[in-house]
Amino acid sequence: MTSKRKILLIYTGGTIGMVKDHESKALKAFDFSQILENIPELKQLDCDITSLSFDEPIDSSNMNTQYYVQIAEMIEQNYEQHDGFVVLTGSDTMSYISSAISFMLEYLTKPVIFTGSQLPIGYLRTDAKENLITSIEIASAYEDGLPVVSEVCLYFEYKLYRANRTTKLSAEQFEAFTSMNYPPLAESGVHLNFNQDFIEVPTFDKKLIVRKNLCSDIAILKLFPGISLDVVKSILTISNLKGIVMETYGAGNAPNNKEFIDLLSNAISKGLYVVNVTQCVGGSVLSGHYETSSFLKNIGVLDAKDMTTESAIAKLMYLLGVGVEKDKFTHYFNQSLRGEITIK
Ligand code: ASP
Repeated sequence: MTSKRKILLIYTGGTIGMVKDHESKALKAFDFSQILENIPELKQLDCDITSLSFDEPIDSSNMNTQYYVQIAEMIEQNYEQHDGFVVLTGSDTMSYISSAISFMLEYLTKPVIFTGSQLPIGYLRTDAKENLITSIEIASAYEDGLPVVSEVCLYFEYKLYRANRTTKLSAEQFEAFTSMNYPPLAESGVHLNFNQDFIEVPTFDKKLIVRKNLCSDIAILKLFPGISLDVVKSILTISNLKGIVMETYGAGNAPNNKEFIDLLSNAISKGLYVVNVTQCVGGSVLSGHYETSSFLKNIGVLDAKDMTTESAIAKLMYLLGVGVEKDKFTHYFNQSLRGEITIK
């Protein structure tokens, strides 16, 4: 008989871990050291679960790169002893957090599943139990001694996604996330069906490397009709700024007046990396498809193709943190490092 799979559950905060205080009726954070006592259903799962929690669980709006490092270190320190990891965070910034963790964990060969919920686990109509239980099942799914998924994923409302392809779409629906440019890796119904053709094949002969140097000197510049040149200029000239995710229209289009082009090209010539991501939730930047995008490539704006903003931010944090030279930066940015971009 094979021994049970060992799963590490990491609780960082968010709605999922809330229960109602019997006396005050207010929502309060749940004591995760008592998780098996409080959710007896978990004992029926065919795996051994241990849990770790942030000392002070946080709302995911308070996430930052130091917390990313804390999550990555919790995985690193427990990597050998466990077969899979489930990370609970608030859903609000889960796509940002999980995208960043996907870049931080190089040569990952085990499942890391992010999940959370729209309603607290202590509510009768909660979506938390299904999200949690199925995430644990996915993290412990092995076939012929190998994990079925060994990437950083996000599981929510019956769908498993590649984390760095997701975006939070609804503040209300249980189906809170979408992955418009990449199909789900698994769907849960009566059966848990894995979409094998879309799951990344890991490199088993390399050891996990945890990249902890992340750069926060980046910004998002979201274009809108009527944006003033002063606003664009003040963002592009922030001191110490190293990278910008520029959210453009449609297939990557931006104003092509001389003043705007000059501002961008000056900033790029001074060493700022500018990457072009579409504001649309689905589809890809196609530089050169319209006149209003062909100039971007010429002045050195990098084409993020079908990457999400969340993933582009994470990739900038990672590549700038590693500190690669300009030509290598461009080379790596254009590559799919963790399945975050479609290369045709
Ligand atoms: N505000 C919460 C958070 O992101 C919402 C949630 O948990 O879904 O931490």
